[in-house]
Amino acid sequence: MKIVMLGAPGAGKGTQAKRIAAKYGIPHISTGDIFRANLKAGTELGLKAKEYMDKGALVPDSLTLELIMDRFNNEDCANGYVLDGFPRTIPQAKALTEALEKIGDKLDFAVDVDVPDEAIISRMSGRRACLQCGGTYHVVFNPPKVEGKCDACGGDLILRSDDAPETVRHRLEVYHEQTQPLIDYYKDEGIFERVDGTKDMETVFEDITNILDR
Ligand code: AMP
Repeated sequence: MKIVMLGAPGAGKGTQAKRIAAKYGIPHISTGDIFRANLKAGTELGLKAKEYMDKGALVPDSLTLELIMDRFNNEDCANGYVLDGFPRTIPQAKALTEALEKIGDKLDFAVDVDVPDEAIISRMSGRRACLQCGGTYHVVFNPPKVEGKCDACGGDLILRSDDAPETVRHRLEVYHEQTQPLIDYYKDEGIFERVDGTKDMETVFEDITNILDR
């Protein structure tokens, strides 16, 4: 099963994507996580991506596409994947469609986790991320067992610099301008589905699995 998660930054699509990956036995591929891991490791790709990420801007398509196409070659992608944060522009979506067409394949679902901007801004201020493993938490909605520590690996939890309120506002602008057009793109492909992301995490997950299991 090949799934694309759509939705604004902070809509909760990362959390849902991880649960989908676990339930259906497919890898969760987050371009944001891959960029952050590269940044932490000090790779050339990480350093190039940093200047865009720090501003809440998108990393150029050429760089992002190189990264993701390389990731698809990994054998864990044989049975599909759930993509989180990719594609984020129409050129990225077209490149993905074309790459799949070349191997006689296609996406199964594009799931939009829909949350209004105001709710996102208030949510993001409580978001915490583990620098070590990429795990995400929320101080109110999804707190770690021990404050400030990752449940999975014990790493320190931080407020990511791109979750700061002014960066969040800019990321939302970028989302409406560059990523929202993907909704029409996937409606045209006949695979678009929308879930109400303001419901609690468990209900959103149930709504998503009801769609995927249809
Ligand atoms: P995320 O964790 O998905 O919110 O991504 C964090 C940041 O990584 C974004 O604000 C972008 O700067 C960059 N990024 C992640 N995925 C992409 C993508 N598909 N295209 C361009 N930039 C991306």
